[in-house]
Amino acid sequence: MAIGATKRDRSEDRRGAALEVALRTGLLKRCPIHGEVYDPGQHDYQGACMVATYLVNRADPLVASFQDDRVPLTDLLRSICKSYPTCCSECPPPVAWTGPTTPGTAGR
Ligand SMILES: [Zn+2]
Repeated sequence: MAIGATKRDRSEDRRGAALEVALRTGLLKRCPIHGEVYDPGQHDYQGACMVATYLVNRADPLVASFQDDRVPLTDLLRSICKSYPTCCSECPPPVAWTGPTTPGTAGR
C-alpha cells in the first residue's frame, strides 16, 4: 500500500500529525462508516492550538516531527481544515428534512 514511503518526507509526517491533532480535538471528524475525514465546520481552533501546544511542550511522539516548534503545527491546523470537505463525500448529502413520513396513520 505505502508505495515509496520515504522517511525524509517530513512534510507528510507533519501533515499526518496535524491531522491526528485535528481529529483528537474535533477540528476534523472521521466518518464512522467510510473512514473519510471531513470538516464538521465547528472550528474550535483555539482549543486545538492549546492541545497542539500541550503536545509539543510535553514532547509527545505524535508531534515529534515538529520538534519544539509549535508554530508550523498550529499553522497546519489552521490550513488543514480548508483541504477537507464539510461532510463525508461518500455519505449521502444531508437533504432538507420534509418531516416524518408516517405510513399507516390512517388505521387506528
Ligand atoms: Zn461517510
